[in-house]
Amino acid sequence: MKNDLITRLTTVLAGTLELDGGAMFGVVPQSVWSKAYPPEPGTNRCTWAMRCLLIETGDGRKILVDTGIGEKDDERFRKHFNPSVPQVLASGLKEAMIRPEEITDVLFTHLHFDHVGGASYLDEKGKAHLTFPNATHWVSGKHWNWANTPNAREAASFLPSNLNPLKDSGKLRFLPDQDSDFEWLSGIRLRTVYGHTEAMQLPLIDLPDGRKLAYCADLIPSAAHLSLPWVMAFDVRPLSTLEEKKRLLRDALAGDWTLLLEHDAKVAGGRLAENDRGRLTLTDTFDSFNYKG
Ligand SMILES: [Zn+2]
Repeated sequence: MKNDLITRLTTVLAGTLELDGGAMFGVVPQSVWSKAYPPEPGTNRCTWAMRCLLIETGDGRKILVDTGIGEKDDERFRKHFNPSVPQVLASGLKEAMIRPEEITDVLFTHLHFDHVGGASYLDEKGKAHLTFPNATHWVSGKHWNWANTPNAREAASFLPSNLNPLKDSGKLRFLPDQDSDFEWLSGIRLRTVYGHTEAMQLPLIDLPDGRKLAYCADLIPSAAHLSLPWVMAFDVRPLSTLEEKKRLLRDALAGDWTLLLEHDAKVAGGRLAENDRGRLTLTDTFDSFNYKG
């Protein structure tokens, strides 16, 4: 048996936040999306999970995919997004018997604040530190440049308070941005997509037991987004999202993939299936995913 195979894979929750349903569902009218994904009473805001992935390999790597929103932000920011406090990433990792110092690699799908914020924290003097001090932090090089010279539409999502600690750490490495899927580590391929933001990267995972998983990040953030026109208003290239979603769903259906949903507050994922009316749905859904080799 190869010693770099995946030995464990588990979803780890990094808390919740609230985001406007209109922004999350784009052109879909409120009367429709509110039935599929009900907002908090009396508001237009829905509660979303921030669900990370912990992957362990036989050669000793402990990889965290995305890190949630973190706790560096001020009152004004918190009022806007109402993140769950305290955040649960640390306790989720503790439950998985992992100390922050043990994480060897952090992979960012992209650098919007709800994916990168948990990678750093402030001490009592307000100085920033890496949450996972021994980890190499990986992100697409093209996306890093994009995030550091943000357009006006995305500037509020790429916070210097999240990017600077990574920049200053000497622990940042860049991933290539190949248009075709490429192998990052044994059993983990990366697919680069451009609709949500520039060069977001999705892990496509082959488990040693033959199952295939896709971590959908913000391409398909929730089960409601399986429907093709349900594209976030945040996306910088919505028509690219449409094509990228079509491709992922086609591959998932043909290959019997399990989809892992980063933001769905009710369901962590499931196997993709087509019902008798030709609609794509998730079957065998689960609240958390756990593989142990
Ligand atoms: Zn995003």
